[in-house]
Amino acid sequence: MGKLLVLILVVLAAYALTKALAGPKRGARSGSPGAGARRRTGERMVPCAHCGLNVPESEALSAGGRFFCCDEHLRQFRQ
Ligand SMILES: [Zn+2]
Repeated sequence: MGKLLVLILVVLAAYALTKALAGPKRGARSGSPGAGARRRTGERMVPCAHCGLNVPESEALSAGGRFFCCDEHLRQFRQ
């Protein structure tokens, strides 16, 4: 019984050690740059019918079943 306990402790210690060594390097910095944090995950991206730029559906302007990235392109489509 004592051996099993030691084994568990060794495994836990090794796990904690690898996490401590590997974690901060990969995780914290590269994971979330400022621009990416703003974008909500799972939101649908729609292409602008005028210039083809992909914009989040909630920020896109829609007219006649088409999406536009900005007011300018929406107006140009309507003319
Ligand atoms: Zn556009």
